[in-house]
Amino acid sequence: MKLKLARLPALASIMGLLLLASTLAPGDVAAQGNVVESDSHRFVEVAQGVWFVSGTGSVYTMSNALVLVGEFDTLVVDSHVTPAAARALLDSISVITDKPVRYLVNSHYHFDHAHGNQSFPDGVEIIGHEFTRSKLSGENGNVLQENTFKSFSDGVPATVANPERQVAAADDPARKASLQERHRVQLDYMNAIQEVVPTPPNITLETKMTLFQVVAAGSREIQLLHFGRAHTGGDVVIFLPQEKVVFTGDMMLPGLAYMGDGHVDEWPETLEGLKTLDFDTWLPGHGPVMTSMEPIDNFQSYLRDLWLKTEQMHGQGVTAEQAAQQIDMTNHSDNFAQIRGPGVDPRAIRRIYQLLNE
Ligand SMILES: [Zn+2]
Repeated sequence: MKLKLARLPALASIMGLLLLASTLAPGDVAAQGNVVESDSHRFVEVAQGVWFVSGTGSVYTMSNALVLVGEFDTLVVDSHVTPAAARALLDSISVITDKPVRYLVNSHYHFDHAHGNQSFPDGVEIIGHEFTRSKLSGENGNVLQENTFKSFSDGVPATVANPERQVAAADDPARKASLQERHRVQLDYMNAIQEVVPTPPNITLETKMTLFQVVAAGSREIQLLHFGRAHTGGDVVIFLPQEKVVFTGDMMLPGLAYMGDGHVDEWPETLEGLKTLDFDTWLPGHGPVMTSMEPIDNFQSYLRDLWLKTEQMHGQGVTAEQAAQQIDMTNHSDNFAQIRGPGVDPRAIRRIYQLLNE
């Protein structure tokens, strides 16, 4: 079967979310501490005051977040996919703390991590890479008009219409109710997209910034690190050396990341930078808490192989569209459940061709 990522019905599955469960051995999921839920969010305390945050499904969040709670303030990493999802996050934080949000960090500029920025109150400092600011400020064009945003968002009306049709056809009351709920969530999401005003970081970094948050035990060191280009031109990981925890954004996911803005040639080397850090838990921008380091090697090997195979096709004069259908990455299918046959996301191949043509 050919992999046709763009036709998968759920947007989340494109980012590899829905396939994760089947790829993970039970030992991959860290022993988890406190778990607290609001209606829209689940907070898992991976270390004292370090909360990994995911959506429960009642509001479409599309990505994970991180909340660091200190004595006087909180720092949030990533703002979800819409202003509405970010508002739900901000409302939900009250289930774990009453300390006000002081900082928001963007792991990268992508819509599903940064289009909630505008919901953070005035006075909250937004920190991100210089590249993230250049994208979200519009100085290099409007991100709402870019292929990345459009290739994910243009399909949303269909994800609203499909369950709507199914609701009408469903007889079983339980199924009808669950379809109705799915329809409601997607409809809310579609409407929430209209509200987006890209909002850039007002504090930027190039390679490193360190914050020290006052906590009961003294101070928490929070390192923001850019190891090079990878998933985007400005990926930042959030590293907590005392807790040995790192939030990787989409630079490192349990499954295959979107590569349409990626630097596939530089990405493996950038991941070498990640591997120099001393951590035992990594928190991806999508998917569950991770403790196994194997996926990092596996992904490096996938990226190197994809680059070589694409370069070969490019050299033979094969078009990007044909290459996307022909390139066979099934030698990595044991490590990535998304790979079900020959073929690669055409957005990744178009991007690699673009880099090769530069
Ligand atoms: Zn991303």
